[in-house]
Amino acid sequence: MSVCDTANMIDLRSDTVTRPTLAMRAAMAAADVGDDVFGDDPSVNRLQQQLAEKTGHEAGLFFPSGTQSNLAALMAHCGRGEEFILGSLGHSFKYEAGGAAVLGSLWPCPIEYQADGTLALEKVAAAIKPDDAHFPRSRLLVLENTQNGRVLPLTYIKEAAGFARGHGLGIHLDGARVFNAAVKLGVPVGEITRHFDSVSLCLSKGLGCPVGTVLVGNKALLAKAHRARKILGGGMRQAGILAAAGIYALEHHVERLAEDHANAQALAEGLAQIKQIKLDLTAVQTNMLFLQIPQEDTQPLAEHLRQAGILILSGANLRLVTHLDVSTQDVERVIAAFQGYFASR
Ligand SMILES: *Cc1c(COP(=O)(O)O)cnc(C)c1O
Repeated sequence: MSVCDTANMIDLRSDTVTRPTLAMRAAMAAADVGDDVFGDDPSVNRLQQQLAEKTGHEAGLFFPSGTQSNLAALMAHCGRGEEFILGSLGHSFKYEAGGAAVLGSLWPCPIEYQADGTLALEKVAAAIKPDDAHFPRSRLLVLENTQNGRVLPLTYIKEAAGFARGHGLGIHLDGARVFNAAVKLGVPVGEITRHFDSVSLCLSKGLGCPVGTVLVGNKALLAKAHRARKILGGGMRQAGILAAAGIYALEHHVERLAEDHANAQALAEGLAQIKQIKLDLTAVQTNMLFLQIPQEDTQPLAEHLRQAGILILSGANLRLVTHLDVSTQDVERVIAAFQGYFASR
């Protein structure tokens, strides 16, 4: 079997590995389309409108990726030489190839996350620069929800939004997995998203779409993001084929995220029984679990699992992610395979 032949494997590397279901593909095939660069694609317009309404924002803008949506948002909020404040493990700081600096001429100010995935507001306050020619101008606070699977408390979000406004900062949410947060809290997603000036929501993670992210915000901000999207090469033509997957997912794949959370919980409980594994059960809130295994087991465990039809990103610190293509039975198989491996150690 080649490493790339993943179709029949239980793939725990990420929730981005899902394949569109037959019903989703049918919705894509049937999509009404037009040229979205002219604003003519009815499916794109519908998806943008639906997400704007759900999130409590004026408008939405469809992007090919979350990386591009975040960058366009940063460019809409901040001008050349201006600064955004975010978590030092934040996606836009760590995992977007420095795009904000490379393409946006923006300056990041990273701050360490607290244990619950929040940024301490007194640390943010201390990071805001006075109006002085020596410093970049602080413009924006960026939060992430979920952050490594952790759900930000609603009270914190309200407080952070008030704080940002009080300090003349915009506030952006990297909400790649914000639907997981909403389902976990049992609230409509708008209860989280309406507190932000802009939110980037991924369709290609837990929602199971092949492609796509939507940025929501007010019309003036999105007009700037629209220009940035053009600069970044993100203007797409008959993108309704892709947007149709998003529309389908909003209807069929949101509530079911609870199954992924239950599967992650069951997987965590099973693995926590294994004495060589270190796992903090209280940190498992949504569809991700993090565990530590002995360094010497990293390669052989990954190989053992691969033989058993299970894919992980190998390392001593493992992140396992549940999603649409991981069933409750799969979880049992994964626990059994881990047990099988560690029983002989
Ligand atoms: C996946 C992800 C993104 C966007 O990633 P793309 O792969 O570019 O779609 C942004 N932020 C977070 C937190 C993510 O997990």
